[in-house]
Amino acid sequence: MMEIWVATSNKGKLNEFRNLLLDKGVSVKSCSDLPTYASPIEDGDSFEANARIKARSMAAIKKGCWVVGEDSGLEVDGLGKNPGIYSARYAGDHASDGENNAKVLKMLKIRSPLAREARFRCVMVAYSPQGEEFVFDGTVEGTISEKVQGSEGFGYDVIFIPEGEIKTFAELGQVFKNKISHRSQAIRKFREIL
Ligand code: IMP
Repeated sequence: MMEIWVATSNKGKLNEFRNLLLDKGVSVKSCSDLPTYASPIEDGDSFEANARIKARSMAAIKKGCWVVGEDSGLEVDGLGKNPGIYSARYAGDHASDGENNAKVLKMLKIRSPLAREARFRCVMVAYSPQGEEFVFDGTVEGTISEKVQGSEGFGYDVIFIPEGEIKTFAELGQVFKNKISHRSQAIRKFREIL
């Protein structure tokens, strides 16, 4: 079975990769399948730069396989497009999802309670077994809820209401999210070249 090595240790992301590639008959592997893998420092200045840093670090170890680096995050208009590339550590290094969500809600209340427009962005950099580079992206527009709502998904799913809906991704559930999310858009583009 063809292996695809995704340079992530985020279980939420990995589940989405697995669900969206299920029917392709591929085996999706991650950092947790490589005990010797040390995550690189993500010091790029864009989602794409960070995705490339992750993809290259995985490609250096897994030669002759498909490897994927993915970087994603939430941009909130009322917060000057933050947390953006700092989404995973908005409330500090090793912050929990709960702490990050609480900070977004609090900062928005203080700075700009009405500018709740937001979007999730995802950029994937993939290397083929021959070392050819591909870049895919996806964006989903929405707004930030007033409070945490729902229990599915991960990260900011509990405070993100996609455009045209009144519930958060965490309330709408994984099947719904996978139809429209930023990550599902990028993965669908990746599927086309597999
Ligand atoms: P990364 O692993 O450095 O790309 O960090 C991405 C961070 O953005 C995650 O830790 C989440 O907090 C957030 N994020 C990215 N995609 C999603 C999503 O689909 N739902 C909720 N939060 C997300």
